[in-house]
This record gives sequence, C-alpha cells and structure tokens, in this order.
Amino acid sequence: MSKSIQSFNPSNGELLGEVNNASRDEVVQTIRQSKAAQKAWRKLPINERVRTIIRAYQHLDQHADSFSELLAREMGKDIGRAIGEATGAIYMGQHYAEEAQRALNTRKLSGSTELQYRPLGVVGVISPWNYPVMMANNLIVPALVAGNTVILKPSEETPLIAQAFFGELQKHLPEGVLTILHGDRETGKALVEGDIQMIAFTGSKAAGQDIMVRAASKVKRLVMELGGKDPMIVMRDANLEQAARFAVAGSFENSGQMCTSIERIYVDERIADKFEQRVTEIANMYQIGPWDLPNVNIGPIINATQHGKIADQLKDAQQKGATFLLGGIEQPERYIRPTVITGMTAEMKLETEETFGPVVAISRYSNIDDAIERANASEYGLGAVVFGNQGANAVADELDAGMVGINQGQGGSGDAPWVGAKQSGLGYHGSVDGHRQFAQVKVVSK
Ligand code: NAD
Repeated sequence: MSKSIQSFNPSNGELLGEVNNASRDEVVQTIRQSKAAQKAWRKLPINERVRTIIRAYQHLDQHADSFSELLAREMGKDIGRAIGEATGAIYMGQHYAEEAQRALNTRKLSGSTELQYRPLGVVGVISPWNYPVMMANNLIVPALVAGNTVILKPSEETPLIAQAFFGELQKHLPEGVLTILHGDRETGKALVEGDIQMIAFTGSKAAGQDIMVRAASKVKRLVMELGGKDPMIVMRDANLEQAARFAVAGSFENSGQMCTSIERIYVDERIADKFEQRVTEIANMYQIGPWDLPNVNIGPIINATQHGKIADQLKDAQQKGATFLLGGIEQPERYIRPTVITGMTAEMKLETEETFGPVVAISRYSNIDDAIERANASEYGLGAVVFGNQGANAVADELDAGMVGINQGQGGSGDAPWVGAKQSGLGYHGSVDGHRQFAQVKVVSK
C-alpha cells in the first residue's frame, strides 16, 4: 500500500500536493480517539453544540477565496462554480445546524411518552470528488448536531480541498469531534469495518453495495447517496426554448459530473427536429478549458479512467447507430467536447450506464407510455424531469424517482430532502426528516 496519495490538477496533470494514505492501524487509532471525544460532545446540550458549530463556520468566511481557488484547481470546475460551492457550504453549515437543532429536539407524544433523538456514536462520512466540499458538508453537520463525532474520509481525487476546508473547521471545534482520515478505498473499507456506528456515504453504487455488505455484520446505520441516470421527457406541448436550454445546462453542469445530471432525453417525435436543432445551437456555445480561463463552461474530466469510460460510451453509441449532432468519438486528452447525440436506443451503454460527462443523449418517442417505460427502466431513480403542459403532472406521477421536476430541475426547495429511489440510495439527508436519520430514536415513557 502506498504511504501517500498525490493530487493532480485535472486540466494539465500538474502535481498539487500529497496527503497521508491512512493504514488500517491508523484507522483503528483514529476511531478510538473519536470515540473518546464523543463522550464529552454528546453531554453538551444541543444548543451549545449548535452554537459551537455555527461559530466554527463563521471562521471559514475569511478563507472563502482560497478555498474556492483550490477547489477549482484540484477538481477542475470553473472559479465561479467553485466560489458557489465553497461559500454555499459555509452558509449551509450554519443553516443546517439551526435546522437540525429544530429537527432533533425532544418531541412530546400522547400521555407521558416522549421521543428523543440520541447520538449514535461515531459516524464515518465518506465523500466523492465531484462536489468535494458540499457533499461532505451536508452529512457532517447533522451528524455533529446529533451529538456524534465524525470521521471524514474524503475522496482520494480531492484530498487537498477537503483538508483545507474541513481542517479549518476542525480547528474551531473541540479536539476529536471532527477528524479527517485521508486514503483510498482501502482506507474507506477499514473505516466501514471499524468500531463506528453509522456510515453516511455519497458515491458510486458499486462502492455503496460493498459498504452495505461490510456494515451488515454489526447492523450499522446507513445513509447512502449513490449514482443516477436521470431522464428528461419533453412532451409535444413543452416550451421548446426552455426545454432545450434546460436539456443542455442539465447535461453539461459540472462537465456532466453530477449525480443528477440529465443523462437521457426522450422527446416527442413531432417536435424532435426543432428541439434537436436548438439543443445543438445552445450546446455549440459551450467551451472546454481550465478553471482560470474566462468564458470556459466545461472543465476537464476528473481522471483518465472517467475520461475513458465516457469515450467508450460514445464509441458504443456510434457502433450501435447513434448520430452525433455535435462532438464525436475523437476527443482531446483530459476533456470531452460538448457532445449532442440523437438516436440513442435501449441497447446503448449511454442509456443504461451512468455517463458522468458533458453529453446530451436524445431519443425520440411516438408514444408517451413508451417514453415513461424507458425512463423507468433504469436501475437508478435519483431525479427525473418532465417538460410539457397538458398531462405533464400525470407523467411526473408515473416516474420512479426520488425527486421529480415539472418544467424545472428536480432539486426541490431548500427545506426538501435530497433523496433517491431504487438503487440510487438508501435513506436520505437534508430537511427536518433527513437530519433525524443521524440520530437514534429513543422512546421514553415516564
Ligand atoms: P466512488 O464510489 O468511487 O468513491 C466515493 C468515495 O468512496 C471515495 O472517498 C472512495 O475512496 C470511497 N470508496 C470507494 N470504494 C469504497 C469501499 N468499498 N468502501 C468504502 N469506501 C469506498 O465515487 P466517486 O467516483 O468519488 O463519485 C462519483 C459517484 O458518486 C457517481 O456515481 C455519482 O452519481 C455519485 N454521487 C452521488 C450523489 C448523490 O447525492 N446521490 C452526489 C454526488 C455523487
């Protein structure tokens, strides 16, 4: 096992730094310390824990610029989006802390019974690279408010921004309440198997399944946010301009490296020519490039493996008869050019496997029931979107997804949970109900 993990700028391969790759022994030792720190943390009244957490986040404000730059450099997103993620996480940390306090207050039930939300113990938060700050942040805050201590295992692709952001947060919390444990998937496995009580995971379905198996022997609590293959249905009476803009923006956001990326579009054949033409015009305005060049809106793909996976899906689509309206199978190193494909069929990898790249993949339908059936045929069920007027609500009712948008994105309002259906996840986070998943419910009758 390598003793360290190196981190590279995905737009040019430049080495940015390295971190320790924690061994099994180090994982065991960290869990022991985290457990010891939990004894005092859980005893603090919840309002004191929340006050401490909010104060810690307030200290982060002064570092927002440096966090944003490092995030952009290490992950590849443009500086505007990186600022949005870093400052958004600082705000959300405080907002979630307050919301979680309300969620976790003891509730009086009928008679003399009350419902308490008690700490579970040590929570392992394992996070991905695509939103390296926000994804971890959303899980760390409710876990801490509930009186747990947290061990964060950030992605090995983006350890430096995780260290900078959460390392700064850690400095303003009592010792041992938040610990960062760097490492690859072997470190993640050791953490899952360690003496911890809950795993809050965001990442791929394959890793999620492995975590479920390892967590089973001790029936550890799980919150799992896994992959997606979000469909978009465009009905005959949809506002074409809005639908085309959404289709491109939803497919290209974060270079397509987003769990709720629009990955498959089913468009009514009677409007398909116009829709495809407008989508292609809009997509053609996007530019690839590094985070610090102006006017760039599609950054690099995180690593060569992901790049190869996308390129393979494009080749597969071409071999099975798809047509490229923009882009093609020849792609530069590190980047995928904005790509629009029509003629996607159910046999193509583009339709069945998560793509995670800047690709608009379109298929035409003649019968709305077929479109719904194909939209639902995926093993995933994170988000889904329908654009249309008459009948759009009925279509939305039929879509098997945790989050559905009608003539808008699937995200929901600020107080909604982030939730996947089918194999996109287990449990959920965000919102009053989501925060409660980080606590043990205890019924006490006096
Ligand atoms: P990944 O599963 O490869 O890695 C995620 C994290 O898990 C990393 O820290 C990694 O080291 C660790 N890990 C990997 N295998 C493990 C194992 N067996 N045991 C313990 N830890 C393990 O995912 P990724 O490539 O970093 O992220 C992309 C994936 O994340 C996509 O599938 C995307 O859809 C998903 N994602 C989902 C959401 C959501 O909210 N549903 C949000 C963001 C990303």
